[in-house]
Amino acid sequence: MRNSKYSEESGTQPDWSALSGQIPGFMYVAQVTSSEFRPLNCIGGFEKLTGFPVTDFMRGDFFRSDVVSRRDRVPLRKFRARAASGSLPASIRYEIVTREGNTLEVEEKVTLLSTADGGKAIGGIVSLAGEASGPTISGILGKDMHRYEELEKLNRHLLEVNQLKDEFLANTSHELRTPLNSIIGFLTLITEGYYESVEELKIFTRNALESSYHLLNVINDLLDISRIESGKMQIQIEKVYVNELLDQVYETFKVQADEKGLNLEVAAGENPVYGAADVRKLKQVLINLAGNAIKFTSEGGVSVSAVSRDGQIEFRITDTGIGIPKDKYDKLFQKFIQLDGSATRRFGGSGLGLVISKHLVEMMGGHIDVESKGTGLGTTVFFTIPKWPKEET
Ligand code: ADP
Repeated sequence: MRNSKYSEESGTQPDWSALSGQIPGFMYVAQVTSSEFRPLNCIGGFEKLTGFPVTDFMRGDFFRSDVVSRRDRVPLRKFRARAASGSLPASIRYEIVTREGNTLEVEEKVTLLSTADGGKAIGGIVSLAGEASGPTISGILGKDMHRYEELEKLNRHLLEVNQLKDEFLANTSHELRTPLNSIIGFLTLITEGYYESVEELKIFTRNALESSYHLLNVINDLLDISRIESGKMQIQIEKVYVNELLDQVYETFKVQADEKGLNLEVAAGENPVYGAADVRKLKQVLINLAGNAIKFTSEGGVSVSAVSRDGQIEFRITDTGIGIPKDKYDKLFQKFIQLDGSATRRFGGSGLGLVISKHLVEMMGGHIDVESKGTGLGTTVFFTIPKWPKEET
């Protein structure tokens, strides 16, 4: 008898052959569902371990046959069903009866490779006989399974990131195309002379201009995130007069708030407040957050405030808008994630504003967080920056 390799599909898994000679057991790749265990590949010493030909294993009924000792058949069946649900890696010990009629205790370990793969699992079965003395046995398998599990985890993570990137690209191209189409549309109307009055010409021109600004914002967000990610974003900390900055935020959003019938309050209190920050980046964060607050609010109002506390300036941007469910908090500051695709499309935006804001705030030495009582109950975003040292104010 010899170590054998039997495969229906070759090249679908790592090369275990170097190990197979050492292990008193074998490895397999199988298709698993809650009702089926279908071996696709078997590497190693199945025959050596059991005395049966490897084709017995490949038929798939090996574990249902008399080979597994009676007391272990039910636990083993349950173990396989659990493997299909993806709750493993796990291991089980059970007894098999070899062709010569000897009982042998074995250990089996299995890891579900990927559910996207239709429930493929990789497993190994080794004899536990002589475990204490031999250098081979489950130690080898355990070590290798562990490495495989690590790779598998990484693989899943990469797949997830890749999927997020695809979604992001789809969303981004939509966000780039929408304003661009609008610009082209209005400019076509103008150049073809499809306007009936100077007034209408002005409206078309203004629409094209607004879409151009929107497009510029999306592109800037994309450039910012790539600069941040590649570590090329630079900040320059200086003394910032926060009251003046808040006045500028008010000016930026007053017309928009009025148009939506929203009450806009911006306050830094009576006393001058000075922060240590990059003034342009701080303004960018405030405009991002206040812009979101107005964007996601259709009734009530938005307030932006700054107070000086414990060596820090705390900004709060509060709105009475659509709110954020608690279970979505952890997604908010993740790149490429938008809470509600349909709402986002309705409201526009690249989905990068909060991520950029978080990076910028942290680069300036502060932190940012969100609070909402839930859907429809408004949102508060608060963030800090260091206060400008007192003696120098
Ligand atoms: P976007 O460009 O989509 O606004 P952001 O990164 O600024 O991107 O925000 C990400 C998502 O967080 C938004 O799509 C929205 O679902 C949610 N969000 C952000 N700010 C608010 C807010 N003030 N009220 C409700 N939801 C918000």
